[in-house]
Amino acid sequence: MTQVLLPSPFALEQILNSISLGLIVVDCNQIVRLWNGWVEKHSGVQSTQAVGKHISEAFEELPSRAILSAISNTLNYGLPVVLSNALHRSPLPLFQRGEQETEKKRIHQSITLTPIASEFGGRDCLIQISDSTTSIKREKILLSHSETLKREATTDSLTGIYNRRFFDEHYKMALGHAVRHNVPLSVFMVDIDYFKEYNDSYGHVAGDKALIQVASALRKQLLRATDVLARFGGEEFILMLPNMAPDSAMQFAEKLRVSVLDLNIPHIKSRVSEHISISVGFSNFYKHPDIDQHALLKCADAALYEAKKYGRNQCHYLPLQHFDAHSIQQINPS
Ligand code: GH3
Ligand code: MG
Ligand code: MG
Repeated sequence: MTQVLLPSPFALEQILNSISLGLIVVDCNQIVRLWNGWVEKHSGVQSTQAVGKHISEAFEELPSRAILSAISNTLNYGLPVVLSNALHRSPLPLFQRGEQETEKKRIHQSITLTPIASEFGGRDCLIQISDSTTSIKREKILLSHSETLKREATTDSLTGIYNRRFFDEHYKMALGHAVRHNVPLSVFMVDIDYFKEYNDSYGHVAGDKALIQVASALRKQLLRATDVLARFGGEEFILMLPNMAPDSAMQFAEKLRVSVLDLNIPHIKSRVSEHISISVGFSNFYKHPDIDQHALLKCADAALYEAKKYGRNQCHYLPLQHFDAHSIQQINPS
């Protein structure tokens, strides 16, 4: 048999008062019998004031109804109860009382109620309270870190719009949806004209600034939550618009082109305009049989190639059914 060496009552009292856990014992009539140092510190009520009082009157403020009824249940049915921190943030009026604490901040609590045998043969209830403020704070920090990481993983750091990785994932889903539901999906490839020359004459920093402005002008043309604009690479952007009627696509492509011209960013080395301009190539999927996942992107890229070939600062459409994937160069890698 294991031999247990019980501490003396004096040592036990010191342990109860030094432990960093709140301990309260109430008897079958809900009268406080024990009120340890931790509870004294965080309630502002001394043990001498609390012991002998009904639990609902022992604090400076009323405890929550949830904990009062949980205590009754433990005493009546002899069942342990855990008050989940997610549902009950601070059932008891307990406050942070550090040296620097100026305002009264309520502690987030995790509370366990356990039935224990009283020395008079009845049933008491042991209330254990731990401070979960720090773990909740840590959880919040971790959550916000993971949200930041998620955002960074899908966002282009220069322009703040989505990156290619995000686009690739969403394109696959949007195409699958378009195939299954027989709805249209339009893709627009956008490329800034003579951007190398722009960098050469105005410098890379001005080039970066222009990319940010172009991205923002393109973004303003999107109206629906399902529309996606992403930086596809260097000075290229891609837009994906589900459910766009095929005959609206040309109008939309023109809107994109004009929105960038309207930025009026001077470009003295451009051979097509006095200002920064874009070329747009687009195509759309609609009830096309046996579509290869990349065909629509390749087709829009081929249309962009045509727009460049025929003089830049213009929009070209290439129907998917006329597109022969083998005759055209691979989609340019970023
Ligand atoms: P085209 O009209 O045929 O598209 O000509 P272009 O000069 O725009 O095309 P090219 O592919 O020759 O050059 C693209 C340029 O885009 C070269 C590169 O320096 C510039 N570029 C790509 N990414 C960035 C970037 O993040 N910042 C800046 N400032 N420039 C970039
Ligand atoms: Mg390019
Ligand atoms: Mg270019």
